[in-house]
Amino acid sequence: MAEKRDYYEVLGVDRNATEDEIKKAYRRLAKQYHPDLNPGDKEAEAKFKEANEAYEVLSDSEKRAKYDRFGHAGVDPNYGAGQGGSGFGGFGGFDFDLGDIFSSFFGGFGTGQRRANPNAPQRGSDIHTTLTISFEEAAKGCKKTVNVDRIEVCDTCSGSRAAPGTHSQTCSECGGSGQVRIQQRTPFGMITTMRTCSKCGGSGVFIPTPCNTCKGTGRIRRNVSIEVDVPAGIDDGQAISSRGNGNKGLNGGPAGDLIINIHVRPHPFFERDGYNVWCEITVTFVQAALGDELKVPTLDGKVKFKLPAGTQPGSVLKLKGKGIPHLNGRGVGDQLLRINVEVPRNLTKRQKEILLQFNEEMGNKPLGEPEDDKKGFFGKKKK
Ligand SMILES: [Zn+2]
Ligand SMILES: [Zn+2]
Repeated sequence: MAEKRDYYEVLGVDRNATEDEIKKAYRRLAKQYHPDLNPGDKEAEAKFKEANEAYEVLSDSEKRAKYDRFGHAGVDPNYGAGQGGSGFGGFGGFDFDLGDIFSSFFGGFGTGQRRANPNAPQRGSDIHTTLTISFEEAAKGCKKTVNVDRIEVCDTCSGSRAAPGTHSQTCSECGGSGQVRIQQRTPFGMITTMRTCSKCGGSGVFIPTPCNTCKGTGRIRRNVSIEVDVPAGIDDGQAISSRGNGNKGLNGGPAGDLIINIHVRPHPFFERDGYNVWCEITVTFVQAALGDELKVPTLDGKVKFKLPAGTQPGSVLKLKGKGIPHLNGRGVGDQLLRINVEVPRNLTKRQKEILLQFNEEMGNKPLGEPEDDKKGFFGKKKK
């Protein structure tokens, strides 16, 4: 083995070089001889290793002091002992990567940054689904079953990720820490970078025989039926949350929620306005004039309703407490009846005679109709 070159000579600096000068020199050489930039170039590779070795010593004030005093023997116990093995504690076999160097130097390009601990409890994500219910179901509340695809713990391995009868092992690469320590000598000194262990993905656990059902993930996607209590009073566009019915968490973290967005089908004749329910009722002009006992539809089925005599078209009558219960509160809305009065058409001769007779009885008064309306029934009569 060739005699080792002087480290100062390797870096091209003089013996009084400052730390800063040593850094700059190293960086220049690292860029010049990096194997990634000189593929297959054995000489560049050797120069690169030599520069690394020199930098490792000269960048460390303690080692530099020893080197200054004792030369290579001061920093390499094997130096001069007859063999040329690496005296620098594993540095020889170290796979240096230019990307890593620069991310370590500049600290923000991502590759050298520490990731969140993969063993930390992690909440499962929420599942969003939609449930369509009828108008009445929204008003009265209902129990419904929703089917969702959910991430659950694998039953085959109970989430252990190992096939039944086998066991997981502590990862040999990282000793179970999930992190591997990478030490680099850089122009800024010794930088220790913790990296997520690639063998175990940071879990610290190695699974020799992964569970076949979940492919070693410990979790499976399964279609589940979940019973949901839809509260009375819910409205279209609102959502209910079923706590803990979302995707299961990781590492003992809580499950997410199941978020159910409610769609309410419109009703053929009820219309919702807050907690009140509107309903249009058409009566004949005779019913409106004389009053009548009606049967009107409500959310509780048909109920008797007394239409007062002389009800005008468009009037609004109230059925108290026949609306929608307040969501999460006390009280119930009302049902509001908008009265529509049907004016008879295509009258028979006899019907016309009766009405004319009726009109005469009323003294031919226009009954509040505008005087200038010549098209109206009474207007024609006046002509
Ligand atoms: Zn499994
Ligand atoms: Zn590991």
